[in-house]
Amino acid sequence: MTIQYWRIRDRYYRLVGSKCTNCGDEFFPPVYRCRGCGSEHLKDKEMPKEGKIVTYTQLHEPLPGFEAQAPFYLAVIELENGARVLSQVVDSPDESVKSGAKVRATVRRAKVDGETGQITYGYKFIVDN
Ligand SMILES: [Zn+2]
Repeated sequence: MTIQYWRIRDRYYRLVGSKCTNCGDEFFPPVYRCRGCGSEHLKDKEMPKEGKIVTYTQLHEPLPGFEAQAPFYLAVIELENGARVLSQVVDSPDESVKSGAKVRATVRRAKVDGETGQITYGYKFIVDN
């Protein structure tokens, strides 16, 4: 287990993105160049865990490595700071998954590597009723 692995895991667990020190725009996942003003002066910034669904789709065809999870919802979520995230919506009744629904980030097991058995964790969202 390398230090780098844990560092990445920690980033996902804490939902760390970037904040532009020039114009103040915030991004997630982290970026190296501000999409607002083009500045390369960015710093790590923990993102809010609450947001809302902007748009979503239900996927019936599983992605490689995600077979056990089909069908599932993939949504564009706007966090409270305006950053937009493409993520799965899990553990939520079908009727609750809709545009404008409030969601909360959670960290879940995302994928198991069949050969090494290594488990990858990632952020997902749950509809917050
Ligand atoms: Zn900027």
